[in-house]
Amino acid sequence: FTSKLPKVETSIFTEMSGLAAQYQAINLSQGFPEFDTPEFLKAQINQAINQGKNQYAPANGLPELLTEIANMVHKQYQLSFSDTDKITAHSNVTITSGATEALWVAIQSLVRPNDEVIIFDPAYDAYQPAIELAGGSCRHITLAAPEYTINWATVEQNINANTRAIIINSPHNPTGSILSAADLNTLQALVNKHQLYVISDEVYEHMTFDGSRHESVLRYPELFKRSFVVASFGKTFHCTGWKIGYCVAPTTLMAEFRKIHQYVTFSSFTPAQIAIAAMLKQQPAHITALASFYQEKRDVLVEALQKSRFKLLPSKGTYFLLLDYSQLSTLDDIEFCHWLCQHHGVAAIPLSPFYPIADRASYHKNNKVIRLCFAKNNDTLLKAAEILCKL
Ligand code: PMP
Ligand code: GLN
Repeated sequence: FTSKLPKVETSIFTEMSGLAAQYQAINLSQGFPEFDTPEFLKAQINQAINQGKNQYAPANGLPELLTEIANMVHKQYQLSFSDTDKITAHSNVTITSGATEALWVAIQSLVRPNDEVIIFDPAYDAYQPAIELAGGSCRHITLAAPEYTINWATVEQNINANTRAIIINSPHNPTGSILSAADLNTLQALVNKHQLYVISDEVYEHMTFDGSRHESVLRYPELFKRSFVVASFGKTFHCTGWKIGYCVAPTTLMAEFRKIHQYVTFSSFTPAQIAIAAMLKQQPAHITALASFYQEKRDVLVEALQKSRFKLLPSKGTYFLLLDYSQLSTLDDIEFCHWLCQHHGVAAIPLSPFYPIADRASYHKNNKVIRLCFAKNNDTLLKAAEILCKL
């Protein structure tokens, strides 16, 4: 049997969460909240199930949820859009089984055999396999620590006749960096000049810190015309296990997306869609409070690690913080994370799996960075920090 993805291993999230369970370590590895989804949302999903709303949702998504999303997007990002450019529930939004499905379908919609897609390393692990299974390949551009910003001149140098799309992810997993308005304007000019498409992974859109605004592709009308925007309620409502996400795209691209989506999952979990629609309508304050909620957690962890020998990298968004451990150990990041989990009871994510396998040996030589997830209760963060400060 010849694998279509010979180089793909079990995801680092599966591996590290498994190791955390095995050693009963404090799990700051895989990104998911320790706290529960809001009571209101739980009551709504239970009510939907008890009322028998347990059959297929419409393939594109529950109409009331699509409407709530279109309203939210308009309020948040598109106030200045003309009526003809506005997002509509009918033509521009589709509910998916997590952002993972939205990414998959967007990639299958765009990428043809021999197309190249530009991705930025460190890159979230779901992009490359989906691109390769569509017959395309990745053109990797490395972002440099500690700021992990994009050099757009380098991006332009990497564009060729086969370049089809660019995948951006802001706020960025795993680095916590964010794109600026200048970045989006440059991207918009580049995309129009070279007639490319964009997949914008915005699953951490509501988690930007220190007063910075999330620069969604949805704020840039010319850019949006060539883009799929991907989001996830798992991050926003502390319900990663519900696997409900969505994609927003202009009408022509969304029509293609829907053709494929109907044969990937057809539709997503009905009770969750009912509950999330009610949540968006009745408790929008949960979303507006999210940035300060996570900023406080970042600050608790950063403060508690001040006396450690780790060098802390800036976290401007997401629920991740990067630590440079080069003063503590010469182990590579995978060995270091295993050692940390087995011998000290803290699970973290090594960064090298976010780089191409071919580059890992040279990456290990120059980089000693791990990722911590701070979507945890403060006492968990403090307990982990106490251990990390003793190393
Ligand atoms: N993109 C990024 C950058 C993510 O961090 C995640 C979740 N870890 C996803 C996509 C997938 O989101 P979901 O769980 O909704 O499929
Ligand atoms: N996105 C989460 C993370 O980065 C995990 C998602 C997954 O387990 N696939 O940790």
